Amino acid sequence: MPASKGDSVNPALREWLRNERRLGVPHWAPSPVEVDSPVPPPAASAADGRERAQDTAPAATPAARATAPRAHKPAATPSFLPDDPNLPPLCAEELSRADAEAALVELDAKFVKACTKCRLHEHRTQTVFGVGHARPELVFVGEGPGADEDAQGEPFVGRAGQLLTRMIAAMTLTREQVYICNIVKCRPPGNRTPTEDEIETCSPYLSRQLAILRPRVLVALGRPATQTLLATKVPISRLRGEFHDFPPPALAHLGLPPTKLMPTFHPAYLLRNPPAKPETWEDLQQVMRFLGLKIPKRT
Ligand code: URA
Ligand code: SF4
Repeated sequence: MPASKGDSVNPALREWLRNERRLGVPHWAPSPVEVDSPVPPPAASAADGRERAQDTAPAATPAARATAPRAHKPAATPSFLPDDPNLPPLCAEELSRADAEAALVELDAKFVKACTKCRLHEHRTQTVFGVGHARPELVFVGEGPGADEDAQGEPFVGRAGQLLTRMIAAMTLTREQVYICNIVKCRPPGNRTPTEDEIETCSPYLSRQLAILRPRVLVALGRPATQTLLATKVPISRLRGEFHDFPPPALAHLGLPPTKLMPTFHPAYLLRNPPAKPETWEDLQQVMRFLGLKIPKRT
């Protein structure tokens, strides 16, 4: 893991926690003291309609959840992710950074860029494979590209992506030191949640990416990534906050190397629900402790 930048993180942490307004996010942001405190912060303002439409975390109340209109079929979580026998086998060894980079480029160029295995290819501008360090200690897995990602070909570059970048900075890291990808590589139309079929069809690419990357920790961002990677339908609010073993027994057949998985809320959800930021920061601090990164002092 690249060395911690120690106290130099404080400006980045402050930026995430205090300076959201300058970045165009019209909501309350917690102070660092509130972030470390279990006391619930004030309620969020109205949901931000410009962000992804899907429910990446539980609705505010069970009643709201029960009555919320659903524009599309929610993604059911597959009980297992089948492999694709037409793809080359998963990488079975630890590669050097250069070899891992080459293997990722090859997987993307030979298989993903031209993929038409599911109907998501019909609406995409381009596939969005992943970005970052080819042998990182930490990998973030999101849900699927949005409009900005579809246009730029890079994951997490829109408003949620900018928040993710600040979360990474708060962890004393940069986007270049970690790897960022999604469970599906093409943008679901209208930013809907990918379906069970689409996730199953695309997952052999993610498995191959993870077998090359071999991180020490996976951070699953939001419900679809968490429930897919843990092969469960347990709500993210009950899964986040502690490490899980990955792969879970239901995904042992994939043959992926064991790693730790920390579920946390999706940054798009945090944009709509800033009071969930303290819990997310708790999750990220657990990851930092596991990786031996120095936790920034309170300011
Ligand atoms: N949301 C995601 O889940 N992934 C992206 O790449 C961007 C937004
Ligand atoms: Fe292929 Fe995945 Fe895109 Fe579907 S989402 S077309 S499986 S790359």
